Amino acid sequence: MTITTPYWNPLLETLDRERLQKLQLKKFQRIFKWAFDHSRFHRSLYERSGITPSDIQSLDDIRHVPTVEKSMMRDIQRKDPFPYGDALCVPIEDVTEFRQTSGTTGQPVYQPDTWADWEWWAECWAYIIWAQGYRPRDRVFIPFGYNIFVAFWAGHYGAEKIGCEVVPGGVLDTTARLLKIQELMATVMMATPTYILGMADAARNQLGIDPATLSIDKITCAGEPGASIPSTKHRMESAWGAKVYDHSDATEIGAWSYECMAQSGGLHVNKGMFLVEIQDVDTGEPITEPGRKGKMIITAFDRIAQPCVRFDSKDVIEWADYACPCGRTYRLIKGGVLGRADDITKVKGVLLSPSAIEKVVRGVSGLGNEYEVIVEKKEDTDRITLKVEFLPEAESRRMDIEKELTDQLRLKTNLRYDLQFHSMGELPRYEVKAKRFKNLRKKA
Ligand SMILES: [Zn+2]
Repeated sequence: MTITTPYWNPLLETLDRERLQKLQLKKFQRIFKWAFDHSRFHRSLYERSGITPSDIQSLDDIRHVPTVEKSMMRDIQRKDPFPYGDALCVPIEDVTEFRQTSGTTGQPVYQPDTWADWEWWAECWAYIIWAQGYRPRDRVFIPFGYNIFVAFWAGHYGAEKIGCEVVPGGVLDTTARLLKIQELMATVMMATPTYILGMADAARNQLGIDPATLSIDKITCAGEPGASIPSTKHRMESAWGAKVYDHSDATEIGAWSYECMAQSGGLHVNKGMFLVEIQDVDTGEPITEPGRKGKMIITAFDRIAQPCVRFDSKDVIEWADYACPCGRTYRLIKGGVLGRADDITKVKGVLLSPSAIEKVVRGVSGLGNEYEVIVEKKEDTDRITLKVEFLPEAESRRMDIEKELTDQLRLKTNLRYDLQFHSMGELPRYEVKAKRFKNLRKKA
């Protein structure tokens, strides 16, 4: 069978705005009622603010539904029905999957899913990877330590769902993974940008293999903004001789947005499966037009065990001011997820965004892929330290590189940095999500 459509769901992905909005309203009403009727946690939250399912008659009404924060979920868990507590909407016997959040911002949150939820996860991923050109002939290598974090688990099932052959590169180490890719002539990989770059270094330095000579032609990234940062994307694409695509997902939400083969600089929001709202970080006012960043409030329409209804994700995003040439009507967010509302912090009155720094560092030739940013207060003044690594062959151009980095940082971020140069390999390496941004002022 030859499938020629570029869309996983040709009907939904090209639906006109009006019909999409109708569908979104219907689906919101359904999941809101589901949470209201089946979750004691959601019901008491809604009752406290005096809102009931019959109050939702238009998309505008949705703004009155209280948002849910991760910290609220932490408080209700580790209680009966153990360990999920009052947000569980199905009998505990129906739960087939356990995952948990990584706990980077505190105690982890548990996430139950039913088998239907798990199939839903695979469906979310089918949209992503079909849009990125995966087809049944592809052999997908997943170099990920399959464990309690959701990461690429659902990508694995999504790839199977569309008919790809999947190779789970679980407990293998990096060199064994590379050799397996070479042996099997795998065509696709899924990993974090940090790991994709780390694997390329390992191929060259430990195996003497140029990764671009391997058979990988598509890479799907997640977990970090790198694949939407042009300089980082370029480093990955040229190292592997492959197309690199971004997507966005989270344990409590699902896989809600994806880059398509047009690589138009944004991610499509899967509007048939999610409602994405953008809110001003300070005032909570809705942002519906391009040109202003805000934090994302998101609803997953069809996930039932532990629903995600107006979840305050703290992801900072912005609507794009252009349509994608691929023909999808699913709206684009510009430049992917731009950071976390907690991370985007003001230094000397200027907004500092870690991804803006990454864009600069990865754009300077002669610097390695790793970097670290530390913001701290010294004698009442905010200081930013930026640690970077020189590539061995670039040591002789040290002065020029230092000047270029200083100028670019000044130009692109309007801030001054204390630069620290290290030799290759001195900064920490990460296999999954990197922790490169440290705001030490918070604790003080
Ligand atoms: Zn597109």
